[in-house]
Amino acid sequence: MSTYLRILSYVKPYWRHLAASIGCTIMFALLNGASVYLSIPLLSTLFQEESGQTVQSSPVDEASSIMPAWLVDSLDNIKESFNEFIFSGTTGEILLKICLLILFAFLGKNVFGYMQAHFLAFVEQGVIKDIRNAAYGHLHKLPMSYFKNEKTGNLISRITNDVNVVQASISAVFLNMIREPLTIIVFLGIALSISWQLTLFSVVVLPFSLFIIGWVGLTLRKQSTILQEKMADITTVLHETITGIKIVKAFGMHEYENKKFASQTEGFFRLVLKMVRIRNLASPLTEFLSVVVGVVIIYYGGQLVLVDGTLKASEFLGFLFSIFQLMPPIKELSGVNNRIQESSAAGDRVFQILDTDPTIVDIPNAKSISDFNESITFDNVSFHYDDSDELVLHDVNFTIKKGQIFALVGSSGGGKTTMVDLLPRFFDPTDGRILIDDVDIKTFKIDDLRKLMGIVTQETVLFNESVKNNIAYGLSDFPDEKIIEAAKAANAHRFIIELSKGYDTLIGEKGTKLSGGQRQRISIARALLKNPPIMIFDEATSALDNESELLVQEAIERLMYDRTTIVIAHRLSTIRNADKILVLDKGKVIQSGNHDQLIEIKNGLYKKLYEMQFR
Ligand code: ADP
Ligand code: MG
Repeated sequence: MSTYLRILSYVKPYWRHLAASIGCTIMFALLNGASVYLSIPLLSTLFQEESGQTVQSSPVDEASSIMPAWLVDSLDNIKESFNEFIFSGTTGEILLKICLLILFAFLGKNVFGYMQAHFLAFVEQGVIKDIRNAAYGHLHKLPMSYFKNEKTGNLISRITNDVNVVQASISAVFLNMIREPLTIIVFLGIALSISWQLTLFSVVVLPFSLFIIGWVGLTLRKQSTILQEKMADITTVLHETITGIKIVKAFGMHEYENKKFASQTEGFFRLVLKMVRIRNLASPLTEFLSVVVGVVIIYYGGQLVLVDGTLKASEFLGFLFSIFQLMPPIKELSGVNNRIQESSAAGDRVFQILDTDPTIVDIPNAKSISDFNESITFDNVSFHYDDSDELVLHDVNFTIKKGQIFALVGSSGGGKTTMVDLLPRFFDPTDGRILIDDVDIKTFKIDDLRKLMGIVTQETVLFNESVKNNIAYGLSDFPDEKIIEAAKAANAHRFIIELSKGYDTLIGEKGTKLSGGQRQRISIARALLKNPPIMIFDEATSALDNESELLVQEAIERLMYDRTTIVIAHRLSTIRNADKILVLDKGKVIQSGNHDQLIEIKNGLYKKLYEMQFR
């Protein structure tokens, strides 16, 4: 229930539309009642029953035993003046009046019905939009580790599919909790005013069939929740395949992937069939039960008309109309709780995202930092990932002076990437501190801290936008000359102008229209344009062929100029002129110094790695 209240809290900004919708709902229910009620004088006229008077005493009088006196009086008054108005003049005039009234009642009912739906849609869709935006906005605040643990497809499914389920429940409440009870009150009132005995009789018979109908609804809802989860699984498989399409092709795994996908769709298929079966059964079952109830009521009511003579035929028909109008709202209401449960489940899945605490956040009163002046220091830094206790970094200590080129080498899995990920606070150290200009980086505003750094990794990320926007990513309204200048420095200008639309060419998702080297040079141009004082290269050239590597290397050297640089390189030749080299092995710093010093150390890892490359 608390989840549900939380969903409703999103309705607040839309209270005006909601109020309008509720107002229209009230009018709708009243006019709906009026349109049915008008059938009584119509039928009475057509049957040429004696006008005005009921056969015996007024049914309203009979109802007095179960209704408060004031209500009886006012109902009586309304009825009297209504009858006076209608049943004056010739039969033709009466008929015309009734027909016009019916026309207006239906017109009004439908106009208000439309407006009610219109305003409610605004509320519903607005809430959905807000929840989606909140969830998406929150994703950006979550730490990297969150994305490693959650499947992408699952996250996508939550923000798309589950949010849709939540939407259904908003209308469930506002429509069902307001319109249906109102409709019930109106028609029950009409029924009571016609014959309280018959009403009482019907109220006893009706719930019996509604109970069965409600049960069918419950089963359907349960199935639909499971269906929702199955859909998320399908989305996950789909997402994994599309993002990894190259590997799937290269390994000839389409058969395997097809089978995996087919088994998911098969499960979905079976479940849907099961649902359809229940739904198809529900409809005839509901109809038959309704007819059973109807026949019982007609039999009893028919006796009141024909045998007892306490009820006019026109009133009896009006009564039947009212009672049958009661069925759908009662049916809806019996399902409300399930709808709430169902949407709460979906809501939970969405709110799970919103409730994941961003572990890496600004501390209160975080400091601004706009410049890097002296040094970066790792002070006894240890680190392990959330999912295991094994340390990936052990007591790492070093200092990088401003303007230096600092290199990290070591075998794969040694912890190099992890180490540079700590600097922009993608992760926080488990132990120890990282200092910039002797101040713990945790005390800085995260946005400021990240502005100090540019990162170029092996896996370049380009967005599905123009080349220009990719280079100027995150920098709005940048002058074109600057972008071109950066592209030139990154050795990218030449190939960009050869693209079909030059700088305005759209790059496919993840940059698939470009070669690895071209993508890398665009990402270097991006870093150049951002012009951060600290640059980090994580194996930026390792995925490239020799020729592009040369071009990229050249660009990197330009980028290093007048900057503090941290390089992780698989090719040791690229770091020969580094000011300082740190050799990492299994998370421990085992050697440090410059190239000339390290190459002298016999049996050292650096010497070994170096010789391995040039053997
Ligand atoms: P390198 O960049 O030197 O090749 P990494 O820093 O990527 O090494 O990885 C160091 C160790 O941390 C490896 O044993 C790797 O399996 C582990 N590791 C890397 N990323 C994660 C992660 N997100 N969660 C858990 N373990 C990780
Ligand atoms: Mg790495």
